[in-house]
Amino acid sequence: MRVLVAGGAGFIGSHLCESLLHSGFDVVAVDNLITGRLHNISSLLEHPRFTFRQHDITEPLDLEVDAVFHLASPASPVGYRRYSIETHLVNSIGTLHLLELARRLNARFLFASTSEVYGDPEVHPQPETYHGNVNPVGPRSCYDESKRFGESLTMEFVRKYGLDARIVRIFNTYGPRTDPDDGRVVPNFVLRALRGEPLVVYGDGRQTRSLCYVSDMVRGIRLAMERDGLAGEVINLGNPDERTVLDLAQLVLELTGSSSRITFAPPRPDDPIRRCPDIAKARRLLNWEPKVSLLDGLRLTIAYFAETLDHAPAAGE
Ligand code: NAD
Ligand code: UDP
Repeated sequence: MRVLVAGGAGFIGSHLCESLLHSGFDVVAVDNLITGRLHNISSLLEHPRFTFRQHDITEPLDLEVDAVFHLASPASPVGYRRYSIETHLVNSIGTLHLLELARRLNARFLFASTSEVYGDPEVHPQPETYHGNVNPVGPRSCYDESKRFGESLTMEFVRKYGLDARIVRIFNTYGPRTDPDDGRVVPNFVLRALRGEPLVVYGDGRQTRSLCYVSDMVRGIRLAMERDGLAGEVINLGNPDERTVLDLAQLVLELTGSSSRITFAPPRPDDPIRRCPDIAKARRLLNWEPKVSLLDGLRLTIAYFAETLDHAPAAGE
């Protein structure tokens, strides 16, 4: 089996490539490196069953594969604000190109959507049947609305052409290789704690997130692709352990033993107040649930970032 991972040099994509190679698949990673890094896949480049192609999927591509994982898209609020038009295009035209490729090859397809399709939700926790509360013209809409478009297009390929495609809605995921500069809450808090800098909480810190460790997420994504009979299914993947951002900041301080302070800054526009997945469907269809606790996942992530700091060149080097 030969599989394509679009977005394979990104955070989740690189872990997915590694896991697939480990199981014996031939893996082709396609990435334009807009938010990903070659460093994420440096250990895979010499692997005999791994191929990397630097390519922008908003341009058509031709490959022979049996399955297409579509994870290509800027994913952090900082990333998709910086690359707002590119985000629109990769989730619309990029998705179209990958769907067309999968259709031509009669390949399985998985679209990596997001909990952001629920916007600032009014239903807790969020089941797949909830249609969301998205601001279509707000600063996050380049991401939310293009992912909604990508979902809609994927479903049309299932209905019109019988494509064996599924959609996973990924909730906040963290772990080693998260981009240290893309402003997501875990790398921000961990790096600031390790450097003794203040942890900046946006708003009052009572907003919640539910954080899933990356190995659990990769296992869920793979099950969603590998299980039969899932064409047209939409499945939430995330960890239902819901925490406030302030609790998370305090936990990171405890686990790092840092004496950093917690400070407060104005809330981000349209920042969802609560987010927590209902994963009953993933449990039922995939027999999947997260295994890594927040404490264990944070310990692993802290160890990773501590090591990257140890190897970072000192100022002036
Ligand atoms: P990431 O930015 O690390 O990875 C995305 C990868 O896609 C990057 O390597 C980027 O260079 C590549 N890419 C972007 N546009 C491209 C294009 N036009 N052509 C080719 N490659 C392109 O982000 P991630 O956290 O690994 O997210 C992966 C996927 O999961 C994304 O689709 C994201 O929307 C989704 N997701 C992630 C999270 C999370 O918490 N990490 C949450 C919800 C959804
Ligand atoms: N956040 C924060 N300080 C930071 C980074 C993020 O308080 O340094 C908050 C942010 O406002 C949001 C939550 O943490 O409420 C998660 O933010 P992130 O960017 O990780 O992802 P989001 O879920 O918003 O896409």
